[in-house]
Amino acid sequence: MKEFVKTKLIFITGGVLSSLGKGVAAAAIGALLEARGLRITFQKLDPYINVDPGTMNPFQHGEVFVTEDGAETDLDLGHYERYTTVTLGQENNFTSGRIYHNVITKERRGDYLGGTVQVIPHVTDEIKQAIRQIAPTVDVAIIEIGGTVGDIESLPFLEAIRQLKGDLGKDNVCYIHLTLVPFIKTAGEVKTKPTQHSVKELRTVGIQPNLLLCRTEKLLSKDIKAKIALFCNVEPEAVITAQDVDNIYEIPLLLHQEGLDERIVEVLNIWTRQPQLEPWQELVSRIKHPKDRVEIGIVGKYVDLRESYKSLHEALVHGGLANEVQVALTYIDSEKVEREGAEGLLGHLHGILVPGGFGVRGVEGKIQAIRYAREHRIPYFGICFGMQLAVIEFARHLAGIPAATSEEFDPEAADPVIYLMREWYDYRRDAIIRRDRESEKGGTMRLGAYPCVLKEESLAGRAYRQSQIMERHRHRYEFNNDYREKLSAAGLAITGTSPNGELVEIVEIKDHPWFLGCQFHPEFKSGPMDPHPLFRDYIRAALEYKQSHVNPDEEI
Ligand code: GLN
Repeated sequence: MKEFVKTKLIFITGGVLSSLGKGVAAAAIGALLEARGLRITFQKLDPYINVDPGTMNPFQHGEVFVTEDGAETDLDLGHYERYTTVTLGQENNFTSGRIYHNVITKERRGDYLGGTVQVIPHVTDEIKQAIRQIAPTVDVAIIEIGGTVGDIESLPFLEAIRQLKGDLGKDNVCYIHLTLVPFIKTAGEVKTKPTQHSVKELRTVGIQPNLLLCRTEKLLSKDIKAKIALFCNVEPEAVITAQDVDNIYEIPLLLHQEGLDERIVEVLNIWTRQPQLEPWQELVSRIKHPKDRVEIGIVGKYVDLRESYKSLHEALVHGGLANEVQVALTYIDSEKVEREGAEGLLGHLHGILVPGGFGVRGVEGKIQAIRYAREHRIPYFGICFGMQLAVIEFARHLAGIPAATSEEFDPEAADPVIYLMREWYDYRRDAIIRRDRESEKGGTMRLGAYPCVLKEESLAGRAYRQSQIMERHRHRYEFNNDYREKLSAAGLAITGTSPNGELVEIVEIKDHPWFLGCQFHPEFKSGPMDPHPLFRDYIRAALEYKQSHVNPDEEI
């Protein structure tokens, strides 16, 4: 494993229970190391058997994050990209399913020469191989192990990362364990026992953590840290408080105050400059002092689970930061809009957004919401599905095509303004793609970053201030060019297309303060330090809408 010689590895494991914010902690560590001038990368190792999260229900797994190279990955990769300058891809997320798939493929091919294929060494070697691929060009690779220590499924990953310390030497590997130190109200004190047990569990598989990140409500006292240190066999300085925060972008600074990055570079024996944290300090101060507030409504299907719209949520917050306003988000169930009508549910909003989605359930409610936004001149942002439905709404109510729909809902539709494109040139693959309804499911999605050329005189052109952009996609259906003329004549402006003009990427309505739908997912490329131009301009439009609709009574 010579390739590793220069690259140091940080492994992050989780204990006690899930949802402690391991992904954000990993991302924040990345931010701190970048602030020290180090080149970093990330990897997420997920213990489940699905080969990737692409087919998983967002209710169960949260958002599927799409990378530039078209990988459908765990949402933690979104945190990593938002907190740092890295661009991740296919190699930065592995699941047990993918690892086993590789091992079994090799076995069938005869690569193991008739040997017995076992978890150790074959599966663990495959895991180490997966880690090795990401590491050569960076100073530090941060590798997060999904799940909680003690789960049966994560054992091969833990065994592989245990072995790496022996392979690479102790100066090159740092194990960080995230645990919970709960405050028990009835006892009036914090309890360290879950942390003790969790570390014991980790040591059972041969891993002694170098640092403990303790998720708590309040800063841990010296005594508590000493107690945890004693029972967990670490130094008191290795016990770091990861205190609950109001805003996740405060975490890098808090962890720095606790000395985390200093300890990491010590363990890994790296010499670096002090971190330059001014951008983070400015960011936090902007978050804490908004000048105004706008109400944005997201009309969708997975409204019960915020995790399903993680990147979208963050991108809207970033749009707020760019305008120094707080963005208050309401998730509105589109089926409720169908039952109760748009006015009561959407009337108070300063902006309406229909996000990406699949399937027919709740579609009519989303179309109603779009119509409401269009007719009441409320800023509207349609993303992917939200763009397709905006085209349908426009076709039905402004272009005289009452039966307009998508082939996704009705394969035999008379007027499929959104449809499965039978033949088109794919810029990513540099090939002509042909498909029919038979090939509908499976590998036919348009995935990853595609080029889009913009009309200068448009909302999009003014937002990006570029003639060509790259944005990420994840969809099967497209705008149907048979309807292009008719819809354009009725006032739908096509302001972004693929360079050859074949694929419609952005539509706008001119006679409206801000109405834009895009076939791609801009939320995947927004960060707190560089808010996405479309989200920035959308929130600005929402703010202007609010200011022009101030109730005179309220002003006094
Ligand atoms: N269901 C639509 C399609 O497959 C939109 C997908 C999305 O919004 N990501 O084209």
